[in-house]
Amino acid sequence: MTDSNYDKLLDSLYAKLPAKAVGTGERFEYPKFECFTEGTKTFIKNFDAVVSKLRRDKVMLIKFLSKELAVPIVQDADRVVLQRRLVPESLNSKLDDFTTKYVICKECKKPDTNIIDGEHGFKQVVCEACGARSSVK
Ligand SMILES: [Zn+2]
Repeated sequence: MTDSNYDKLLDSLYAKLPAKAVGTGERFEYPKFECFTEGTKTFIKNFDAVVSKLRRDKVMLIKFLSKELAVPIVQDADRVVLQRRLVPESLNSKLDDFTTKYVICKECKKPDTNIIDGEHGFKQVVCEACGARSSVK
């Protein structure tokens, strides 16, 4: 294979990569809940690890999930308990929504953000990497 053919091959490979993987260096890996069900309840084992990775308030994430899934959630020692049986996929898809909305910078797609209270009941995601701010409800 000649060099120019090789370049073309590389170009076509890069063109197939999703846009967000280009230019951001290492890609942030969305955390996942480890959970199990018992009776009519769902237990999340690694809630603290997830919130510390996301650097978000535990109560904020609990409120978000409770509202999105329409299920009461209580804290039980180091575990978080949802008062319904849920499959991990539905929990983790809500966690992905939360991460995209409240953690990932809308501009540079990095997770190095802080959340602050803005005006009119909005919160703002402030990026440490690029300085962008975006308002979220
Ligand atoms: Zn940014």
